[in-house]
Amino acid sequence: MVNQRMITRRQLIQTAASTAGIIALPSLGWSTTQHGEGQLDVVSDGYLSLSNQGLVADQDESTLAEFLSSHNLDIEGAYTPPCNLTLWRHGDHTVLFDIGAGPNFMDSAGELLDSLDALGVDPSDITHVAFTHAHPDHIWGLIDEFDELVCPNAEYIVSADEFNYWMDPNTVDRMPPERQSFAVGAKRNLERIADGVRLAKFGEEVLPGVQAVDTRGHTPGHTAYEIRQGSESVYVVGDALVHSKISFERPLWQSSSDQDKTQAVNTRKALLPEIVSSKSKIVGYHLPNGIGHVDTLGDAFTFVADA
Ligand SMILES: [Zn+2]
Repeated sequence: MVNQRMITRRQLIQTAASTAGIIALPSLGWSTTQHGEGQLDVVSDGYLSLSNQGLVADQDESTLAEFLSSHNLDIEGAYTPPCNLTLWRHGDHTVLFDIGAGPNFMDSAGELLDSLDALGVDPSDITHVAFTHAHPDHIWGLIDEFDELVCPNAEYIVSADEFNYWMDPNTVDRMPPERQSFAVGAKRNLERIADGVRLAKFGEEVLPGVQAVDTRGHTPGHTAYEIRQGSESVYVVGDALVHSKISFERPLWQSSSDQDKTQAVNTRKALLPEIVSSKSKIVGYHLPNGIGHVDTLGDAFTFVADA
């Protein structure tokens, strides 16, 4: 039943893409990387359908247009970033970082079950789900169309700051009207796991070799996870580095999608040099191909996706 629905949606997307002559839609599926004694898969949940206009909050439209144009991107065009979950299998643990958008957010997202199925992973095999934050594309997939938990056997981990912020009954009233559904959805989903959820502190080792990293700004408790194996690390950065060009080449520009824009800039100023100096890989939830590394570029940075 679920697969039938997913396949139909995928066929529809492919048909629509070929009819419209669009060739750059992010692909569904996954990629696999061996990381120390574990295996890391980037698992697609589909993609978001947004617009290039208004991506940044503190630059005028012509500045953004010029920057996008230098990357052959049109400010009038669509912005269709992929949604990449990270699956980390190590010892007895099968860990999912975030859980996707589910069936009720955007037609182009919510493909996680199809991607896991293609990998041969049953959602009941997931032992842990660690959230970067509680925005719709990261947490609404917690529950399926039948109102059941998609990963019934998992322990759920989220930072205490993120959990407490969205569970506060006053949060919804403090959000701008266009984002109030985010607050309602975050609280509704977190309430489902409130019994038994593990609230993490920044700096804490939440699982063997996996540390919660303070990356507040995009949301009040946004958390990256450093997966360390020996001297090598992969950072699951969530939406701390949300745009494949702007977040790296113009890290000081304020992103419209960041809730605390100043804090998010400070997070990028700390995180990017750390990733470069430690020669770590990163998985970005909305970055092309998901996994790659960061190089310096002049006095800024650039994301280099793995081939
Ligand atoms: Zn996101």
